[in-house]
Order: sequence, then C-alpha cells, then structure tokens
Amino acid sequence: MAMWNPWRGCKKISEGCLHCYIHKGDAKRGVDTNLIVKTKDFEKPIERLKNGNYKVKSGIVYTCFSTDFLIEEADEWRNDCWKIIAERQDCTFLFLTKRIDRFIRCIPDDWGDGYENVVVCCTIENQSNADYKLEIFSRLPIKHKCITAQPLLERVDIEKYLDDIELVVVGGESDYNARPLDFSWVLDIRDQCIRKNVSFEFRQLGTNFIKDGKAYRLKTKDLCSQARKADINYSTKKLW
Ligand code: SF4
Repeated sequence: MAMWNPWRGCKKISEGCLHCYIHKGDAKRGVDTNLIVKTKDFEKPIERLKNGNYKVKSGIVYTCFSTDFLIEEADEWRNDCWKIIAERQDCTFLFLTKRIDRFIRCIPDDWGDGYENVVVCCTIENQSNADYKLEIFSRLPIKHKCITAQPLLERVDIEKYLDDIELVVVGGESDYNARPLDFSWVLDIRDQCIRKNVSFEFRQLGTNFIKDGKAYRLKTKDLCSQARKADINYSTKKLW
C-alpha cells in the first residue's frame, strides 16, 4: 500500500467539506489549502531505485488523499498522471472525489470502458447530493466503482444506484463541532448493500454519535477502532 499526492490543496465544494481535515491541518501550519500546487511526488509511482526496480511496490496506491484528483486547477497536469497510471499496471490506483460531475472531462483518450487498475470512489453525504452524483456515477464507464458516504449527514436511500458498485464505505465526522451520525443510518445503508450483495464497510464512528436515541461524545482516536468493534462489515468478494 502506498500514498501518492501529485498535487496538494483543495477547495471546499459541498456540505461534507465543512470540517475538512486537510483545511484544518493546513490552517495550523499557515498553509493556504485553496492554492493547488504540484508536489515533488508528482512522478513517484514511476521513480526507480538504483537497481532499476520501482520505488513504489505493486499493490494499492491511494491517490490524492490530500486533494481531489478531479479538481479543475489540476486539469493541465492530469494527463501525465494517467500515463503514469497506465504504466504501472501492477498497481491499483484508488481515488475519492467530490467532483464526479467532472469525470468525463478528465479521462484520457484511450480510457474506453475504463482502466482495469483504477478504482473511483464517489463521495456523498446526504440524499440530495447522493441523487445528483450517483445518477451521474451510474452512467460512467469505470471498471471499479465504490461509494463513500463520509461524513454521512442524514439517512440516505442509495439502493437503486448500487447495481455496479463494488463497495460502500460509511463513516461519521471527526471534529469538535461534528455533526451527528446516527447508527441507524449506518445500519440502513448496510441493509441496502446486503440486499444488493454489495460489500459494506463501517469505516469510523463520528465524534458526535447517536445510538438508540442516545448521544455520545467520542474521541477521534477511538472512531475507527469502535467501528471495527461494531463488527458489521459485509464482504462479498476480495476487492482489488
Ligand atoms: S473535496 Fe475533500 S479534500 Fe477537498 S475540501 Fe472537500 S473534503 Fe477537503
């Protein structure tokens, strides 16, 4: 597993961005997140060691986890990234995006039905952006699709969009002023996934967590481990 951030910086675009951890972290360091700049790691997946082997080993490469792969400001750089992705057929490049409505403008000429080694995760937070984004997502030529509902802000019905989805990830918000995550919303999405035989992962609770009508304040460090303890993941097959 490797991380690859060919550029850094991002702009808030939806309700889910309100407590973006990238913006929070940059603010502490006095960095302007709204400035999108290339990083020194731009060619990281094709950099080689002295012995000729790639520095980045085969496997999953988490791409643009401190930005958005489809952000407009990176349009002039993205084609070079696609070339790098095409070269590394031994790696699976996974990125999340809140800009799925830009996808079709961002693909390379030889995309066809999609690259086998690319997983695209469309993020949603509420019913209105789920309906808008997932309707678009369902029509896109992508070989591996997943949905990330994090931070989930309300109960959502996404069942009709699950036909070609391989995984749904759900999680709450981590912030002092986090909006609530109700466990019943999580279980509701899980039920939808099971009915459609789609893998489901409960990634993290929220710092403002509601279960059986009772509100809990949780520590950020416990959010992922508590989700694992809930033991509600549902797996249909080995992914990527
Ligand atoms: S799209 Fe993602 S990285 Fe960009 S501001 Fe929103 S939450 Fe942050």
